[in-house]
Amino acid sequence: MKTSAEYVESLRRMHPRVYLGGKLVESVPDDPQLQSGIRATSIAYSYAEDPALRDLTTVHSDLTGQTVNRLLTVITSKDDLLKKLELSRHLCRVVGCAQRYLTHDALNALYSVTYDTDKALGTGYHPVLLDYMRHMQREDLTIAVAMTDGKGDRSKRPSEQEDPDLYVRIVSRDSSGIVVRGAKAIVTGAPYVHDLIVMPTRSMQPDDKDYAVCFATPVDARGIEMVARVPGRTSSLPYRMQKAPHSENYAQATALVMFDNVFVPWDRVFLAGEHQFAGAVAGAFAGFHRHTCIGCRAGLGDMIIGAAASMVEANGLSVSYGHLGERMAELIRIVESFYACGIASSVNARPLPAGNVMPDEVYSNVGKQIMGERIYDMFRLAHEMAGGIVVTAPEPEDAENPAVKTRVDRYLQGRADVPTSERLKLARFLEDVTASYQGGWYSVISLHGGGSPAAETIEILRKYALDDRRALVRGLAGLEGGERPRAPNNKQSA
Ligand SMILES: Cc1cc2nc3c(=O)[nH]c(=O)nc-3n(C[C@H](O)[C@H](O)[C@H](O)COP(=O)(O)OP(=O)(O)OC[C@H]3O[C@@H](n4cnc5c(N)ncnc54)[C@H](O)[C@@H]3O)c2cc1C
Repeated sequence: MKTSAEYVESLRRMHPRVYLGGKLVESVPDDPQLQSGIRATSIAYSYAEDPALRDLTTVHSDLTGQTVNRLLTVITSKDDLLKKLELSRHLCRVVGCAQRYLTHDALNALYSVTYDTDKALGTGYHPVLLDYMRHMQREDLTIAVAMTDGKGDRSKRPSEQEDPDLYVRIVSRDSSGIVVRGAKAIVTGAPYVHDLIVMPTRSMQPDDKDYAVCFATPVDARGIEMVARVPGRTSSLPYRMQKAPHSENYAQATALVMFDNVFVPWDRVFLAGEHQFAGAVAGAFAGFHRHTCIGCRAGLGDMIIGAAASMVEANGLSVSYGHLGERMAELIRIVESFYACGIASSVNARPLPAGNVMPDEVYSNVGKQIMGERIYDMFRLAHEMAGGIVVTAPEPEDAENPAVKTRVDRYLQGRADVPTSERLKLARFLEDVTASYQGGWYSVISLHGGGSPAAETIEILRKYALDDRRALVRGLAGLEGGERPRAPNNKQSA
């Protein structure tokens, strides 16, 4: 496996075309504006180096016969799912968004859908995927998931758009591979990964068959260019004077990734025109990824809980009583209720024909939806407990200026035994994570990342065992077709 330093070094051998801050990036690993993203992604490598975390971060691979990073494997047991959930929380309680678990979610989705496609249509995608996974595991790669298309007019299907390239599509194919064109609108971590896995974002009809395409490609393949956004708040940006205590160290870039006649050889193609399976890829990825999102945002919740509790104490108060205690309990309730859905979803996982297991979709969608909608309440509760200092703490340059430092220390003192500088640091941390550009980013990724709340509602209604409840009540009400009450089995999916 690669060390985190080797991961960064490996990026030197990649030459993606990345536009950032009005310029073409010369060298991704050397660009100061991308460092927080590279650092946040590299943590999945450094944790795998830590002997104390080996059980959580690594597994034996039957594909290569070697120990590999857990995030490059398929999940075959409930215990593995629980460990992946815990690992996601563990990574994100330090870096906020660690990116690399996307690799895992994409591989698991493709593992099951390529198997199903081959079984139904006699195609040969599953062995191609297995070969690609061997390569990924040997090279210890990180990939970004490129699923969300530009989409154009949302009321129209891919083939109905005026511009045919608003969803990524196959423009030609021959015996060596396919050529694709189009764009994926939002790809987290794209500048500093090795490969992209491109997947359809929705179900398709026969007319959309050219859009039913799924493949892996090196991020620097000819014809790929991206327009990226700076991760977090780097102080090198002229319009942001304030140093960001957390997001300057750890954050994620996103990018619009454009494909201009990109060639993909058949040994990297996992779906090419089988429109019946496009929706299955999107659905399976959502199933795995929403489960992961729960773990990630519980990690962010750990940060918010810790920061709010510390601010309350720095203010001279306590969370053990009164309205502050109520607010803290509510914050904990939100975080642990969506995390508990992640646990329930793992425990109730169902086996898939390919041999991996799918987290229970009712619980993962319920948990992801609670998280996505209540992230705003999590921030509100932390702000309420901490006070206005969250967005008004003087900048370090001013607070530490010898001309005013003594008076700033005196007038912004909270509890007597907590130095003012500590109180201000805590306030700036909470601002960075919840009330800044980065706080907004965390809100929107929680809400939309992995699919909008509407997509989760559809999935909850589609998967919930409503017929069981109907039959129960028909039985209780003495109606025809009713059932005698059965013991509940703790599984909520039909
Ligand atoms: C920070 C961040 C990181 C992300 N990272 C990735 C990534 O790494 N890879 C990736 O592939 N994606 C990524 N996403 C994209 C994410 O999956 C999408 O944002 C999400 O699926 C919503 O799609 P959209 O943004 O295009 O919104 P839209 O599809 O434009 O949706 C906007 C609203 O319109 C509604 N809507 C859309 N279409 C219809 C319709 N036909 N009928 C009725 N209502 C409709 C939606 O429910 C929603 O309420 C990321 C998103 C964010 C915010």
